[in-house]
Amino acid sequence: MKLTGLHILLTYQCNFECDHCFVWGSPWQSGVMTMADIRDTLQQAKETGTVNSIYFEGGEPFLYYATLLKAVRMAHEMGFDVGIVSNGYWAISQEDAQAALEPFSGLLHDLSVSTDFFHYDEFISSQAKFSEEVARVLNIPLGTISIASPQESETCTEAGRGTLPPGESDVMYRGRAAVNLIDKAGRSPWESFTECPYEDLVEPGRIHMDPLGNLHICQGIIIGNIREKPLKEICAEYDPQSHPIVKVILNGGPAALVTQFDLPHEKGYADACHLCYNSRLLLREHFPELLGPDQMYGVNL
Ligand code: SF4
Repeated sequence: MKLTGLHILLTYQCNFECDHCFVWGSPWQSGVMTMADIRDTLQQAKETGTVNSIYFEGGEPFLYYATLLKAVRMAHEMGFDVGIVSNGYWAISQEDAQAALEPFSGLLHDLSVSTDFFHYDEFISSQAKFSEEVARVLNIPLGTISIASPQESETCTEAGRGTLPPGESDVMYRGRAAVNLIDKAGRSPWESFTECPYEDLVEPGRIHMDPLGNLHICQGIIIGNIREKPLKEICAEYDPQSHPIVKVILNGGPAALVTQFDLPHEKGYADACHLCYNSRLLLREHFPELLGPDQMYGVNL
């Protein structure tokens, strides 16, 4: 696997508990990286010789502002392109947005701010507007991430695929969305989900790493832990066809998890991720090292 991007979940904690969150972000979550963890991770990323981009996300990375700022400086000094994904909660006025973002000036290649009805009362929040205005002045490239409500997605799907407004994405029914939003979603037969529509499980390019050092090829599917084996070795040794979960998804999608492991199932699921996530929940006890950690499956929340 030739890895070019590492997305570091600085913490599973978040000040919000959005219904669509893949990673069950919550104030009640556990797991945060220390400076020593970050230093080691960046060093390992450098040693791969291929990683050129680092993102800090979560959870909400601005919750640990001092650590985030130092981590961004460190990554920038090491020559990485650096990005942050945030819900923008700190941009409560133009002056506050300025105070939060000024120290990042000249360090960031991208700042992605979430804004939609999952996060705020307005689709384009005042936080997104303030952070956009300030980022423009500070020359920080900023984009917004917006997820359409299930109702909006259903309406657009009936009218024809691809009719969501530009810049909006569909909910993917994994993590908390697979529990909290499922009543509002339509269903398709479980046998129809014969491929993973979203992740490149063979050559992903970028990968997510959680605060415990786990590398996730998709959230909740672990391919190694950098505290146990160097990132460079994990990448060199990665073979999708020898990973007991990845190979099944690759060879027949989430529907193959049902048939291969003879899993109980419902007649219909909202999308491929809904079937995949529910099947993985049933398989966790058999593959505890590969389907985890508890945080990614909302355990203890
Ligand atoms: S189908 Fe499974 S592996 Fe693919 S994106 Fe959805 S949850 Fe991840």
